[in-house]
Amino acid sequence: MNVTAELPVVNAARCTGCGDCVAVCPTDCLAMSGRVPWLPRPLDCVECSACMLVCPADAIQLLSLAQFLEDSD
Ligand code: SF4
Ligand code: SF4
Repeated sequence: MNVTAELPVVNAARCTGCGDCVAVCPTDCLAMSGRVPWLPRPLDCVECSACMLVCPADAIQLLSLAQFLEDSD
């Protein structure tokens, strides 16, 4: 992972807890924490977008660190 890498960010308000993103992740870097997924192994993320594309609730975005910090303002 480098500083321009994009990582999945979950909108917990939209997430229904279906687990589809965890199931589809090819590198097992996502896991459920209660009813919301999180990224316990960010270094394993290959930025494939599969989690974002499979999410039926449109609750995942792939964001770079810079975008993430902008969104947190
Ligand atoms: S972008 Fe791909 S590798 Fe990264 S968490 Fe999503 S499904 Fe897994
Ligand atoms: S696929 Fe979307 S709705 Fe389902 S657990 Fe993942 S983030 Fe939540």
